[in-house]
Amino acid sequence: MLNYKLRLYPTKEQELVLEQALDGCRWVYNYFLSIPPMSEYDMNYALTELKEEHPWLYNYHSKMLQMVSKQVAAARKTVKGRLSYRKNDDFNAFTYNQSGFRIENDGLHLSKIGSIKIVLHRQPVNIKQVTVCRKNGKWYAIVGCEILRKRYSTIVYHRPVGIDVGIAKFAHDSDNHVVENPQFLTKMLRPVKRAHRRVSRRQVGSNNHRKAKHMLARLYERINNKRRDFLHKTSAYYCSHYDLIFLERLRVANLTRNHKLARKILDASWSTFKVMLQYKANRVAEVEPAYSSIECSCCGHPVPKSLAVRTHRCNSCGLVIDRDYNSAMNHLQNGLKLLRLPVERREVTPVEIARQSRKQEAHGFIRA
Ligand SMILES: [Zn+2]
Repeated sequence: MLNYKLRLYPTKEQELVLEQALDGCRWVYNYFLSIPPMSEYDMNYALTELKEEHPWLYNYHSKMLQMVSKQVAAARKTVKGRLSYRKNDDFNAFTYNQSGFRIENDGLHLSKIGSIKIVLHRQPVNIKQVTVCRKNGKWYAIVGCEILRKRYSTIVYHRPVGIDVGIAKFAHDSDNHVVENPQFLTKMLRPVKRAHRRVSRRQVGSNNHRKAKHMLARLYERINNKRRDFLHKTSAYYCSHYDLIFLERLRVANLTRNHKLARKILDASWSTFKVMLQYKANRVAEVEPAYSSIECSCCGHPVPKSLAVRTHRCNSCGLVIDRDYNSAMNHLQNGLKLLRLPVERREVTPVEIARQSRKQEAHGFIRA
């Protein structure tokens, strides 16, 4: 299932109706919490009886209310101890599953609610589920689509690439293409820090504290949107140019502990990037990062260097290239080896080609 998040623009009246839908679901949710726990199936059965007792429930789409039983059942499984009753501002989503929705022109039509203006930056197909959610006063539809994979008789990998992700640059690949770190990291972090300070300075519970928290949430939301957009574009670039992608295995868990905000966002970005590549590309394989920054991608000679050294200089074959470029070529070669595909040591820059051809016989350099 692939989820698209699309912005909704309800009118004032529609917003009231959406809020009523949230209230209806919340009422059912809290009702199920007030009675002894039962299975999802039994809750759905209880729901039909509940409607007889409270006929106003007929004003809601029945599948939407059934999704509440699913929600309660899932929450009971994951939350240890008692579930707590939901108040107005911590119940922000309802779901239409399988039926009761359709997208027409630029409207999302929901049964019993009506047609709400939607911005389609993508055309979703095979929609299985629509979740409407409220976040920071805005409304979104999360549209779940079933993915139908293209069928190939046999997958052929014509265009492999190795990608090295890093801190200084977002990515450097084995074709010497560099993706710089996105602008929002440098531009938007200062206001975020300022907003954090403002929140901590205001008195907890005061109106100003609430406002400052809202501001901070908005800033994070904007960064997150830009981040996702950047990652979608970058992963789309790689998937349209290559069909076999090698990445180093990221050890995000040990990195995330105690470091700066910018690094936290980058860490999160690398893993999202990998996930996006995995569902967009034919094949993504992870290689062990162990020696990729040390080994010479041309001759295999080890060239140890500290993180501060940005250039790879090999004394054995004379190769001089960017450190990350060298790593990316190692990822590519290690990946091809891992998949038992023919490894081809690729040409580097025009300057190096002459040098390489001199070494070619000595190192068994193969060209396609
Ligand atoms: Zn070398």
